[in-house]
This record gives sequence, C-alpha cells and structure tokens, in this order.
Amino acid sequence: MKRAAHIVKSLFLQELIKGLSVTGRHLFKKKITVQYPDEKTPMSFRFRGLHAQRRYPNGEERCIACKLCEAVCPALAITIDSDVRDDGSRRTTRYDIDLSKCIFCGFCEEACPVDAIVETRIFEYHGENRDDLYYTKDKLLAVGDKMEDSIARDRKLDAPYR
Ligand code: SF4
Ligand code: SF4
Repeated sequence: MKRAAHIVKSLFLQELIKGLSVTGRHLFKKKITVQYPDEKTPMSFRFRGLHAQRRYPNGEERCIACKLCEAVCPALAITIDSDVRDDGSRRTTRYDIDLSKCIFCGFCEEACPVDAIVETRIFEYHGENRDDLYYTKDKLLAVGDKMEDSIARDRKLDAPYR
C-alpha cells in the first residue's frame, strides 16, 4: 500500500509541486538578504571595530602610558613601552596591538582613564600577512586622526549610558 502511494506521488510530481509552491510563496515577498557591500545594516555606536589612538584637540596624544589596557587585555595583544619626557609627562615610546590576537572584547577601551584607546566603526580592513595586522602606535594614531569626528560623535551618544 505504501509503495502504491509512493508511485502515485512520483507520478504526479507531488514533491516537486510542493517545493515549487514554497519557492512561489517567497518569490514576491520582501527580501531580507542584505546585498553587501552595496547595502549595509545599521551599526551601533558601540560597535567594536579597528582600534585607534586619540589625540586632544591641541594635537597632544591622550595616552598617558598607564598600561591599564595592557594589563586588562585577555589576549595579551597589547605591548607598551614608556618613558618620561623632558617636561615630566609620561608617554608611550611603543604602543602595539597585534590584531591577529585581539578578540575585540573592548576591555582596553573600558579600562582607559583618558579615552585614548578606542575601537572605531571600521570593520572593512584586512591583512595579507601577519605584519599587516600588527598595529603600531603610528598606525593607531593615524586611524584616530582620520576617525576623530566619528569617534567623538559615538562617545557623545554613549555618554548617558556610562
Ligand atoms: S579589544 Fe580586548 S583583546 Fe583586543 S586589544 Fe582590547 S582588550 Fe585586548
Ligand atoms: S591607552 Fe589608555 S589605558 Fe592604555 S596605556 Fe594609554 S592611557 Fe593607559
């Protein structure tokens, strides 16, 4: 009896028609697939993308080499060396982030007392070898200089929740 039912089903292409009806039902529905990179989804102001080092408006780097970010980083991705300047202020002589180790947890920016290290909205970057993902102080400051307006805007939006 089961076999006969199977033959009838096959003969009238029942499964095929069932499948096509599902396709037909969805053909004219609103599409939910995002056509990246032409279309992009909304992004939170707390998005944790590529890191940046920020400066004050007078051009002075914010980082005071307290090393809290280095201490809190669970991936041991941050390496800092520091020295005291002639004016007595302490600054980093080396500030590196190995992005191939980073897990983008955001602890570094949470720990920073002067909002120096931040994560930007940049996520479209890549490295063709490991060195490309090794961000030195110069590279991080360059990202900060380029993204300062967007970083400052996002910080303002985030302020009520801090
Ligand atoms: S985001 Fe997390 S893992 Fe990456 S550098 Fe900062 S603290 Fe380390
Ligand atoms: S980035 Fe912030 S937390 Fe890290 S060393 Fe500089 S001041 Fe300290």
